[in-house]
Amino acid sequence: MSTIADNIGLVSARIRAAAHAVQRDENSIHLLAVSKTKPAQAVREAFAAGMRDFGENYLQEALGKQAELTDLPLSWHFIGPIQSNKTRAIAENFAWVHSVDRLKIAQRLSEQRPADLPPLNICIQVNVSGEASKSGCTPADLPALAEAISVLPRLKLRGLMAIPEPTEDRAAQDAAFATVRDLQASLNLPLDTLSMGMSHDLESAIAQGATWVRIGTALFGARDYGQP
Ligand SMILES: *Cc1c(COP(=O)(O)O)cnc(C)c1O
Repeated sequence: MSTIADNIGLVSARIRAAAHAVQRDENSIHLLAVSKTKPAQAVREAFAAGMRDFGENYLQEALGKQAELTDLPLSWHFIGPIQSNKTRAIAENFAWVHSVDRLKIAQRLSEQRPADLPPLNICIQVNVSGEASKSGCTPADLPALAEAISVLPRLKLRGLMAIPEPTEDRAAQDAAFATVRDLQASLNLPLDTLSMGMSHDLESAIAQGATWVRIGTALFGARDYGQP
């Protein structure tokens, strides 16, 4: 059986190859280890193999894991859907939020970000798959939302995040990620982040400009939602 350390090596090699294929510096692409449904021990193993950034979708699960791992200098990223009654705990316990898709949530995160922490890094999740996805703002709503979030005092708007409809068709993957890249470029804001690409489509995402790839399955194995 492959270990988490082996898998990190394999994923890093995929990132390197994908970057070189399009003449990008591999160091411009960051690997976010998506540890949702996996135990704290898996995070510990990934940390030992060099990982520092971890992504979680479910707040209660994330807080439990964080409490078990306070001895490690980890950077936590919230990447799941956000209900307004969860914003305070997210603002207090994460360094990044990739899944902001409406202003009310951003305003609450800004108001609730503790003064002794640096501004919370934010990506706006944009829906580039139409009705196939419930999460993410529409491309039409993006410019006004980005302008409004960019002036919130305790947030730092970094860029966009997207989860295109899954497909094995490389041309369709490329088209969706290129749409995200072009949307970001069309905003007149100093943004440096494109959070896009998962285990099955990271090569396409990197070819279209991803700076964070969010990888779960290829690092930690398949998830068992029966026993989180
Ligand atoms: C689960 C999840 C991932 C990781 O997906 P894999 O296919 O397991 O790599 C990435 N991003 C988000 C938002 C997720 O919910």
